[in-house]
Amino acid sequence: MTIRLSFYGAAGQVTGSMHLLEAAGGRFLLDGGLFQGRRSETHELNLRLPFDARRVDGVVLSHAHIDHSGRLPLLVREGFHGPIHTTPATRDLCAVMLPDAAHIQEKDFEYLERRGKAGDQSQPLYSMADAVATQELMVGVPYHRITHLRKHLALEFIDAGHILGSASVDIRITEAGSHRLVFSGDIGRSGLPIIRDPQPPSGPVDTLIIESTYADRSHESVADAEARLGEAVARVAARGGKVLVPAFALGRCQELVYSLHQLWRAGKIPEIPIYVDSPLAVDVTTVFRMHPDVFDQREHMVASESRLFDFPLVRYVRKVEESKALDSGAGPSVIIAASGMVESGRILHHLVHGIGDHRNLVLIVGFQAEHTLGRRIQDGADPVRILGDEYPVRAEIETIGGYSAHADKSELLAWVRRLGGPIRRAFVVHGEPAGLEAMAKLLREAGVRDVRIPKHGETFDL
Ligand SMILES: [Zn+2]
Repeated sequence: MTIRLSFYGAAGQVTGSMHLLEAAGGRFLLDGGLFQGRRSETHELNLRLPFDARRVDGVVLSHAHIDHSGRLPLLVREGFHGPIHTTPATRDLCAVMLPDAAHIQEKDFEYLERRGKAGDQSQPLYSMADAVATQELMVGVPYHRITHLRKHLALEFIDAGHILGSASVDIRITEAGSHRLVFSGDIGRSGLPIIRDPQPPSGPVDTLIIESTYADRSHESVADAEARLGEAVARVAARGGKVLVPAFALGRCQELVYSLHQLWRAGKIPEIPIYVDSPLAVDVTTVFRMHPDVFDQREHMVASESRLFDFPLVRYVRKVEESKALDSGAGPSVIIAASGMVESGRILHHLVHGIGDHRNLVLIVGFQAEHTLGRRIQDGADPVRILGDEYPVRAEIETIGGYSAHADKSELLAWVRRLGGPIRRAFVVHGEPAGLEAMAKLLREAGVRDVRIPKHGETFDL
């Protein structure tokens, strides 16, 4: 029995998650994510697939974040036509995430072409048509339903507790003996609003592929984060300012709205308008409404579903004119807008108007990668360059780490411990160097002898 694993993304870095598994006579991709960050470093990696897409038999997708799903339309454009297995909630989230990603690719390409910077690229990375074709290949497989991809290869999705629909994948290969491979996907946290806590598979594992984003850090608790959010909103409202929150459309936006709803009901924030200013976030919220089946405490959630994301203070903003009007509006408010790392999107316009006002607060609630505007603001840069112009930073800047959707050091260790059985071999992926090393150390201390940090393009026979 030959089982081969090749790492073509999130190997030695965080984004681009994609691993090729060759087993039981088939070739399967675990994730098909986009590389994100500086164009000079990611463009070539995204453009060229390191294998023939027509020869891939199927994809297993852990969750809908673009760094895990955003190269699937490219795969389809290059001739992939096999099924994409994922949970029903991830399938439905992809129905809004991938067309949005295609739209961004088309816009970026137009921009580059206009400036004569497209180089040898003759078309966008992929189009809206490719995103739609990708959706046709998606097969929804609920958690805990064992599904055979081939005669000797079966998979089971287990809740990873990271975002709606996120899964860890338990793969059994039973060709001449038996081999169990567990792919963690992105591991979430205990106590995150709305979604369930992570539930690792249990029993002995032959091969583990595990993420390491925050393996070198500890988060504050979700409850502490909510308390700090409440204090921040009350403080800024009292001085007549705006709270500007850059947030990912998928996951973070819904958690913040949920938290603000709880705070309002508890009388901990004043009656000020809360704007969710992102068409994508509005669509994603609709998908959340469709999937109470994967909520934590389902019955309670279903009963209160109509009020979960809707309460008198919150307004969902789609139109550009409405978005612009928010900046000229007098009085305190909360504005939640994408992008999460302040690289693009409507948050830029709100910062242009608001970062120079000492009454305002820029509230950072998510991971800010190196070289992003979000990271510069978080690190206290002053002035900052936004959309080509410099602005003095007079607004207060605060970071709340507790809303992270990724397990921290102790939560990752708890996940590994709950696997229970011995782990024969582990590959550590999806981290910056410090996270990768910390996770490797953590696994060795937990008794795993064979721990590797694969490099991009590296192949292993298991
Ligand atoms: Zn993720």
